Amino acid sequence: MRAAVLREADKPLSIEDVDLDEPRAGEVTVRIEAAGVCHSDLHYMNGDLRAKLPIVVGHEGAGVVEVLGPGTTDRLAVGDRVALLWRPRCGECEACAAGNPVQCRYGRVYASTNGLMDGTTRLHVGDERVHHLMGVSCFAERVVVSQTSVVRVPPGVPPEIAAVSACAVITGVGAAMNAVQGGAGRPLAVFGTGGVGLCAVMGAAVIGADPIIAIDVDETKLGLARRFGATHIIHARTEDAVERIREITGGGALWTIDAVGSPTTMQQAVSALRPTGTMVAVGLNGVTATFAVPINELVQQQKRIVGALYGASNPRIDLPRIFALYLAGRLPLGELVTSRRPLDEVNDAYADLRSGAVGRTVLIP
Ligand SMILES: [Zn+2]
Ligand SMILES: [Zn+2]
Repeated sequence: MRAAVLREADKPLSIEDVDLDEPRAGEVTVRIEAAGVCHSDLHYMNGDLRAKLPIVVGHEGAGVVEVLGPGTTDRLAVGDRVALLWRPRCGECEACAAGNPVQCRYGRVYASTNGLMDGTTRLHVGDERVHHLMGVSCFAERVVVSQTSVVRVPPGVPPEIAAVSACAVITGVGAAMNAVQGGAGRPLAVFGTGGVGLCAVMGAAVIGADPIIAIDVDETKLGLARRFGATHIIHARTEDAVERIREITGGGALWTIDAVGSPTTMQQAVSALRPTGTMVAVGLNGVTATFAVPINELVQQQKRIVGALYGASNPRIDLPRIFALYLAGRLPLGELVTSRRPLDEVNDAYADLRSGAVGRTVLIP
């Protein structure tokens, strides 16, 4: 099958013929119908985050179940339409038992092997072992994944919506739905209106936050943020974001969501909080990146800073919620997907992303 392989950091992906083995126990083969071009892959492509190479990248995908491996549950059938989750789970550890499978103790270990749940891979080029990214590797015609990495997609949700829902959408919408508590009628600001940030704005609208303030340096992205529910927008290049948020909210936001992951925006997102406010950090950076927080401000104003991986969600529960909200017309996800390209154009798609393209690109293998 054709797949996009990362062989060396800072080099273009190569589209190659890769061998895909049959699924083993508890695994399924999925034919990919759509794969989202997500910023997280870039961190691996430019070496900010480490992975074993060569590796087939792509972690935001959806498709159709083609083969069931031995011992798969009757929850799944050949022909099911599914979205792929990028964090496999064991179902047994403390985090899984507590309903927080994104922190599955073993899921994290498996992720670092760049293999599937047993640490081995189903991908190779002849004798050369090729690795899996986050147990997904969906910039390819097909994938073999753990059955715990799939969630069924209801009729009416197109593949491209299903694909982006399993990463960007659940990360952004989930940050608002899960990490923010009691947000209705309370001021919330979102820093950064790329794919995840726009989804955080949609999520803020769903939970009834008000006002909803979007901050970015890009006019077009801010325009989209308004369409998705922002009541106010701030051009960070020409306006002081913290001052403007204090003005609009009369003293600061109760909640801020940082979807950028830069020290500058994270500091602003903490400064822009009113006392007892919470900053929810969603954006990633390099493994050694840090940001500074004024100690007295944190203590005296009782501010809180929380991280939200995967939208602080339980994907098996929260992804169906997102599909239901989409089908009910409450999440305008169709407008989020702004371009479609064949798999062969994956490098062009990432060049667009690097240059600040608006909305989400989806690859159709
Ligand atoms: Zn992603
Ligand atoms: Zn677990």
